[in-house]
Amino acid sequence: MELISVIGSGTMGNGIAHTFALAGYRVHLVDISEEKLNKGLDLIQTNLERQVSKKLISSEMKLEAFKRIKSFTDLASGAKHADLVIEAATENQEIKLQIFRDLDLYGKPDAILASNTSSISITTIASVTKIPERVIGMHFMNPVPVMKLVEVIRAFSTSDEVTQRIMELCRKLNKVPVEVNDYPGFIANRILMPMINEAIYAVFEGVAGVEEIDTVMKLGMSHPMGPLQLADFIGLDVCLAILNVLHQNFGNPKYAACPLLIKMVTAGQLGIKSGSGFYDYSKSLKEPEVSDKFKY
Ligand code: NAD
Repeated sequence: MELISVIGSGTMGNGIAHTFALAGYRVHLVDISEEKLNKGLDLIQTNLERQVSKKLISSEMKLEAFKRIKSFTDLASGAKHADLVIEAATENQEIKLQIFRDLDLYGKPDAILASNTSSISITTIASVTKIPERVIGMHFMNPVPVMKLVEVIRAFSTSDEVTQRIMELCRKLNKVPVEVNDYPGFIANRILMPMINEAIYAVFEGVAGVEEIDTVMKLGMSHPMGPLQLADFIGLDVCLAILNVLHQNFGNPKYAACPLLIKMVTAGQLGIKSGSGFYDYSKSLKEPEVSDKFKY
């Protein structure tokens, strides 16, 4: 594989482009506007520079990696020569299905088509393409250049050959791939989201305060970040959307989102991205105070 096309230049797309470019691949980065692309490219520059300042890479490696990335606002031009396309567009089923229909029309027929979705069924995505055997999930973790794990999700139709090629590719990127069958939430979110939801229930029922719950999980379970701070980091809207997918698809009430989570998302308290969630990020991102609402 030589040329990788990444669709979407947001949080995940720019991290995926960064990772492949640094590993020596040519990358075509596609988004819907120049403005979005420039924002993504700026972030790649900043994050590569951070790696230089930490002495993880040389300035020359940074320059070479950045030169390997070209940007496109037109999906057909950006994807037509790619050996692998990784879709990392907005988490919306209709947007993703349309992208895969277009990739079927404009891409190389032997290209592998991957999605970085957190919760949409890979089997559903594969079903809108003419060759569903070549469609697979590559669920990278945020921030992509730092996090080692990639969940490699086999749709019902994904071939063994495609799965093996993607597992090998992940290892070449110095990542650790884990093969997972396509069921809602895959592994990471199926286990993580009920834990976060339970932590929110503990706040809702007054079992303990926000800091106390996070402290128990950090010091007692050796988690680097407590579940409530992690929920703020992921985005409370994203947590709610994933819980809704688990609830709808399994039909099991154990996945029903806590009313407090629903209320906070409705009120626009989404975590870091809105400035506050369980914690208030107006003074510090790294050491935030508990939000006023949750102070005793
Ligand atoms: P984001 O909102 O930061 O970026 C999405 C980008 O997709 C935007 O720049 C948007 O303009 C672009 N886009 C929308 N429609 C497009 C189209 N038709 N063609 C090209 N680009 C288009 O979102 P994100 O957090 O980077 O998430 C992207 C995907 O990665 C989602 O499927 C999400 O579930 C998944 N994911 C996110 C995380 C995370 O922590 N943020 C972790 C793992 C997986």
